[in-house]
Amino acid sequence: MTLAGKTAIITGSNSGIGLGVAEELARAGADVVLNSFTDRAEDHALAADLGKRHGVKARYIKADMSRGDECRALIAAAGTCDILVNNAGIQHVEPIETFPPEKWDQIIAINMTSAFHTIAAALPGMRARKWGRVVNIASAHGLRASPFKSAYVAAKHGLVGLTKTAGLETAGQGITCNAICPGYVLTPLVEAQIPDQMKVHNMDRETVIREVMLDRQPSRQFATVEQIGGTVVWLCSASADQVTATTISVDGGWTAQ
Ligand code: NAD
Repeated sequence: MTLAGKTAIITGSNSGIGLGVAEELARAGADVVLNSFTDRAEDHALAADLGKRHGVKARYIKADMSRGDECRALIAAAGTCDILVNNAGIQHVEPIETFPPEKWDQIIAINMTSAFHTIAAALPGMRARKWGRVVNIASAHGLRASPFKSAYVAAKHGLVGLTKTAGLETAGQGITCNAICPGYVLTPLVEAQIPDQMKVHNMDRETVIREVMLDRQPSRQFATVEQIGGTVVWLCSASADQVTATTISVDGGWTAQ
């Protein structure tokens, strides 16, 4: 399948799932725009390397997804947006009573509201070209809750709701909007939680991964960034033309329970 001639913007894509999605889209022939809130030489080097390896145009554009104006400016700066992957996200784990209100606001802004702004900015171009794909990277936490992740669970549930609404508003127009709901994927976001869990539970790394982290994931295996990227590429294919306003779980069975 080739996505040659299509331009994909992936928010929060200088590491983890976003970078993996960019890799798979570039492998499928799409030009890609990488993004995060930093503007370091290594961010631009990531894009240059990706473009060179896959023979596609690849750029890095700095924009802070916690700010609505920068979300919209990212879409404008890219020029064209055929494929929009809303992936930027952060986490904070704390009981509601002590959860810092500014963390709540930041998580809601980055993990949910940013997608409202990027979708709003991208839809007119998609409608004009009669083709578009919006893929929101939600989470199993867009469908199920866990304690101490109030803002994340609220934002991801909200992102799933936005996905359904955007899917309905674009139905029949050559545009689809879906959410991928990954279970645990071993990325820097998850890797950073392992040492703390080892201390709290007095367990070694492998036991923490198997017994604590993957406790709710029946496959007891992490999903990979390649699998999430492959799911995005499939959503961009003609086979998925009638797949819209829905969620696709890549979670080893988590949400069947
Ligand atoms: P990650 O920390 O590797 O990636 C997060 C990305 O978001 C990074 O590129 C970071 O620079 C970017 N980002 C953070 N704040 C930003 C901001 N203000 N503006 C722009 N970019 C910003 O983590 P990840 O695991 O790859 O997470 C990517 C997405 O996948 C998130 O939305 C996360 O909630 C979701 N997710 C992850 C898992 C998992 O197990 N790793 C599971 C389900 C869903």
